[in-house]
Amino acid sequence: MKTFENLNLSDEIITTLNIQYIKEPTKIQRLCIPEILKGKNVFGEAKTGSGKTLAFLLPILEKTNPNNEVQVVILSPTRELAMQIESVAHALNTPLKILSVFGGRDIQSQMKKLKNPPEMIIATPGRFMDLYERKLINLNTVKCLILDEIDQLLEMGFRDDIIKINKWCVQKNQTLGFSATLSKSAKKLVYALTDTPEFISAEDDGYEQSHIAKDVVFTTPRGKFADLCSYLNEENPFLSIIFCRTRRRVDQLEVALHQAGYNCMKLHGGMPQSKRQQAMKAFRDLKIQYLISTEVAARGIDVTGVTHVINYDLPESPESYIHRIGRTGRVDQRGNTVTFVNEDEKKAYEDILNAINNQLK
Ligand code: ADP
Ligand code: MG
Repeated sequence: MKTFENLNLSDEIITTLNIQYIKEPTKIQRLCIPEILKGKNVFGEAKTGSGKTLAFLLPILEKTNPNNEVQVVILSPTRELAMQIESVAHALNTPLKILSVFGGRDIQSQMKKLKNPPEMIIATPGRFMDLYERKLINLNTVKCLILDEIDQLLEMGFRDDIIKINKWCVQKNQTLGFSATLSKSAKKLVYALTDTPEFISAEDDGYEQSHIAKDVVFTTPRGKFADLCSYLNEENPFLSIIFCRTRRRVDQLEVALHQAGYNCMKLHGGMPQSKRQQAMKAFRDLKIQYLISTEVAARGIDVTGVTHVINYDLPESPESYIHRIGRTGRVDQRGNTVTFVNEDEKKAYEDILNAINNQLK
């Protein structure tokens, strides 16, 4: 039987999971949890929505004690993901103090909270370094450094920051990392952090995002907005993320949809932190039906019940397509996606589909 009991987790954690209807570990969880408990330097690769967050949080919470020392540092590429990891950790009913720190949020209050050190810090690299350099975080007690969404951390240019932070954790004895894909540069980074990585892939999970329906609408730049509205009116998505290529495109689409009477908000990296948080909260609380976002802002975000992912602009690569559609159909749910493709993008769209099909083979 595939149960959490077989993975050597404590009864407390298993009870909490059961309350959340989480009964069977996913493949990446089954493979990684025992190894992490043994102290191995695990680097896990598994598709979006396959449960990577719990794959590292569950064993790490077991290994951490409430002692007012920073023992675990989790680095996240975005503020939204840092907050999400924090809330998943809190929901596990742990006695540990957990703090997320990231730019854009009031640094004074974060400084105050650090006076009584949390056992676990979840941070974006920039703010984390800032606080460390102000001597507000003692990293001499850190035992474990975790990188979530390694590929994206690299894409966002955090490579050197990660290496620095890694050096600061002088007593560290475990390094973990997770990503939907582990690119060559990700593996290179891994070897810069530890000599003894254990790569674990749950690629062959039989999970092929086949529970996600993939539609396409061929359109023109001029007709796109009207086509989007027709699609929305026909489908009436319960909860949907609409992806645009740039912040500007997000801004424009938000105004247009808003004027057309759709219940929407926007999310991108150029917005003030308070606005970003408001949008995420409204979306999670089902106060809005549509979140219009750049891809970067939505990376790793897990909102239960997203029924439709809409690619208003074509994703730039197969990886980004997979990331985007992974926002729906999370573990065992059904999902829908639609991609709007202009005449001159047909070739690029086909290339994406072919790349994905080849990857699955
Ligand atoms: P990933 O990081 O791989 O993209 P997440 O960790 O964000 O995926 O998890 C995706 C969703 O799956 C979350 O809503 C989470 O609560 C849920 N989930 C995680 N593990 C399980 C499980 N073993 N059984 C059912 N649902 C799970
Ligand atoms: Mg994740």
